[in-house]
Amino acid sequence: MLPRRQILVSSALGIAGAVLPMALSKGAQAAGTMENKLLESLQVCTPKDALTRLREGNARFAKAWTAAHGGASPEQRMQRLNSIWENNCQIDPLALAQGQRPFAAILSCADARVDPSWLFACGSGELFQVRSAGNTAFDEAIASLEFAVAVLGTPLVVVLGHSACGAVKAAMASEPLTPLLEGLVKPIRASLRSGDDLTQAIEGNTRYAATQLTARSAVLKDAVAAGKFTIRSASFDIGSGVVTLL
Ligand SMILES: [Zn+2]
Repeated sequence: MLPRRQILVSSALGIAGAVLPMALSKGAQAAGTMENKLLESLQVCTPKDALTRLREGNARFAKAWTAAHGGASPEQRMQRLNSIWENNCQIDPLALAQGQRPFAAILSCADARVDPSWLFACGSGELFQVRSAGNTAFDEAIASLEFAVAVLGTPLVVVLGHSACGAVKAAMASEPLTPLLEGLVKPIRASLRSGDDLTQAIEGNTRYAATQLTARSAVLKDAVAAGKFTIRSASFDIGSGVVTLL
């Protein structure tokens, strides 16, 4: 029986192989070389490099976010927010048409104010995103991250909680929920400690989700042990725009 990681990789190669012709013409070979070069331009970096890129991107975002606080008009606010893109365009549409090489994966809340690409000042193709209310490590989320790490070679996963998280508030409250929402908050409740305030509960839930990734996935655990991959937890403060590592 194949180890799970090998199955993942084999499956991905199988998908790619299915669309390759049996014999390539010279023109097709040249095009293939071009495709490889384009894909190589989407470099996968080390876990440390990936974390540095996220921190630098968030610093640009937080500066623009704060500057937009006092914007006199929607146009002025947007102009200030758009400054995060100045001199920073990693996007190559032709390369992205050939494949993806995201330098980091983010497991975040579905909250409309917590858009990872926006708050890390990243373009299309740079972040592999898994989102659900409460940034919980559900089976499907872990499986998606296994794909990012084992097949795409993503070196870093950040589990991202945020201030004023409605899912954590719902988990702390006693109001009745629908059966599906009860299922959603169940893992969050498992992370709550007696006496936690909302901020502590949000941070506790984020740390708990991060520990679940290696506790429940041999693929992720092995990748961490091999030093090819790192998991961090962090919290986003909506008011200041700052992401803080936990
Ligand atoms: Zn939330």
